[in-house]
Amino acid sequence: MAIAESVVRIAGQHANGRRVTKIYVKVGHLRQVVPSALTFGFELVAQGTSVEGAELSLEQIPAIGSCKSCGTKSKLPGFPLQCRECGGFDLEILEGEELYVESLEMEE
Ligand SMILES: [Zn+2]
Repeated sequence: MAIAESVVRIAGQHANGRRVTKIYVKVGHLRQVVPSALTFGFELVAQGTSVEGAELSLEQIPAIGSCKSCGTKSKLPGFPLQCRECGGFDLEILEGEELYVESLEMEE
């Protein structure tokens, strides 16, 4: 729900009073966002704001980590986060924790 609230807040700030019709959101895999849950939360939070009724377009960003032991970059399909080369768990997360509003479509 906190994510839905930030999406509505960010979109509302950018919209600056105009009506938003579509919101493109990029979300990292490690955020473990369930798209249907986010859409549902978004619709609730958006009620009465300038983004009410806007369509939410979610794009998931795969998680990628760099192993601190062997230096291999692994795509991380899920938890636990583990190096696919050496099996190490000490990873620096390079991608996958993003959450941002990429762009908006608005009525003129
Ligand atoms: Zn490794």
